[in-house]
Amino acid sequence: MAKVPARQVAVLSIENFDELCERVGKEAAGRSVAELKEYAVSCGVDPGYMRNLRKDTILLRLDDLPKEGFLEAIARLSEHAQDVSSNVEEDMVPKIRVGAMSERALRSLVNDAALDLLSYMGHNDCPATFLAADDIDDWQALKSFGVQFVSHEQLKTMDPFTGMLVQERFFHLLHSVIEMGSAHDEPVFVLYFDIDDFKAYNRTFGHPEGDRLLLFVAKKIREAFPTDIACHLSVDRFAVITAATDIASRVAAIHKATRAYRHSFAPELKCGVFRLEEGIGSEYIALDCAKLACEGIKGRFDVSMNYFTENLREHLFTRRYITQHARQAVRDNWIEAYAQPVIDTATGELCGFEALARWNDPKRGLLSPAMFIPTLEDAHLIDRVDLYMVEAICRHLAERRERGERVVPASVNLSRVDFGLCDVLSEVISRCERWGIERSLLAIEITESALHGERELKNEMDRFRDAGFEVWMDDFGCGYSSLNLLKDYDFDVLKVDMEFLRDMEGNERSKTIVSAVLEMARSLGIRTLVEGVEKPGHRDFLREAGCDMMQGYLFGKPRPIEFAEL
Ligand code: C2E
Ligand code: MG
Ligand code: MG
Repeated sequence: MAKVPARQVAVLSIENFDELCERVGKEAAGRSVAELKEYAVSCGVDPGYMRNLRKDTILLRLDDLPKEGFLEAIARLSEHAQDVSSNVEEDMVPKIRVGAMSERALRSLVNDAALDLLSYMGHNDCPATFLAADDIDDWQALKSFGVQFVSHEQLKTMDPFTGMLVQERFFHLLHSVIEMGSAHDEPVFVLYFDIDDFKAYNRTFGHPEGDRLLLFVAKKIREAFPTDIACHLSVDRFAVITAATDIASRVAAIHKATRAYRHSFAPELKCGVFRLEEGIGSEYIALDCAKLACEGIKGRFDVSMNYFTENLREHLFTRRYITQHARQAVRDNWIEAYAQPVIDTATGELCGFEALARWNDPKRGLLSPAMFIPTLEDAHLIDRVDLYMVEAICRHLAERRERGERVVPASVNLSRVDFGLCDVLSEVISRCERWGIERSLLAIEITESALHGERELKNEMDRFRDAGFEVWMDDFGCGYSSLNLLKDYDFDVLKVDMEFLRDMEGNERSKTIVSAVLEMARSLGIRTLVEGVEKPGHRDFLREAGCDMMQGYLFGKPRPIEFAEL
């Protein structure tokens, strides 16, 4: 009978050994290891050829077994994985992984290969894994035992956390797929997965639990695309290259499983899909397109998958243009400060204005903040625009004062991202001082959504208030836990989101909600401002309901600050 061609070793490892020790005690857990060894002996392994690699892992040499015996031993050991749990609690069945490789491979890598293999096995549901050595010519036979293969190459290019490919390797493969291009007719797709608000999940349940969710998602993605290229891109982002024709149902299955993972939170996994096409340029652009499709449905609860479209492409190019020209836009005054009046409800008089940024592009015309603000936030360039706006407002107020004109307070919008990029407070103070503007003339607006899960922002808000600036909460009511924020943060003014006014006519409930919000703010000692006042009916209602300030097209649209009637 033929002998095993190369000296083979196997690793047997008990998964979650620490947890097992905690649950059943060290002694009982140790018995599982002993039992495993006994079983290996019963499979024909020489006990002298066994050693402990780790407390939960044994290394065996199988080289004296006949070839068939070796194959069978691997298969039987992996089958036995299920039975070894007889001496522990029922709900804590220790999973045993079996991996095998040639001893030469093991020696040349000084145990690294064994450890890599172990971590690979830990993230794969296949009970037995075989590190494919050059000198094994009988893979088919092993396959029939349900053993899976990994190569050295694969081990090196794998993310030990999820068992998926690392980014570099993924891009390399995507590049080859793009190069092959028209060589195959079937369409190939790049999928980009991202968990909505993963940060909030981490904060709520802690990092170890966050890691568990990531592993779960990685597993579900691999289950749905078992034969495709899957990659763990970064924290909560994954990518897949596939030619599957039923992507939608596979993605739906992953999405459903992820939502069910924790009912109290229902994590939302989004997927962007890009169909590879000729002339796409590079693997990076291909992934960018899938990413953009994914971003297009961020925060939406009605869809979980989105295909890349031509519109999105236009959007992508504009985004790129914005990022590349941000510095120039600030330097060459393409950024313009607009102002929109704020009215005192009781007197009907102007009592302030909101500063709103516009990007007046020499090539592309006027760009809306909805486009360039999120792009600059993503590119970590937003602080330039926001501080430019602060500077422009301070200068404007100083010039008016200089000319002996009336000066009313202004509010400026700050992004949550600003606080990670610079010391916003000292930057704002230095601009006020440069232009001799009192702090009481400048309020900062921060959107409600920016504050979710961002506890450290509370500190920054408090610093602003302690320094004598007012802090206003913008777009109140459009997030999902607005009331919680009111509990935790101190604000001077609540700006109620304009959506509340949209369907007010004929909708008594909207009116009741706005009235209740205004009432609540009043009892908390917070002033109120309602945005989006477009009709006299809105104004009359707000006056009645006791709102302090109003802003909207009824009183004036945003206009370049030098022309605004302030
Ligand atoms: P926001 O701070 O809530 O500003 C109010 C938005 O509502 C403005 O849009 C304004 O033009 C619009 N608006 C005002 N009254 C009415 C009305 O009666 N009807 C309707 N339909 N809309 C009205 P805009 O200027 O397009 O700004 C959009 C958002 O972009 C702002 O929302 C703000 O969050 C952000 N943004 C604007 N400028 C800046 C800035 O300098 N820095 C930062 N970080 N964000 C800015
Ligand atoms: Mg605002
Ligand atoms: Mg607003």
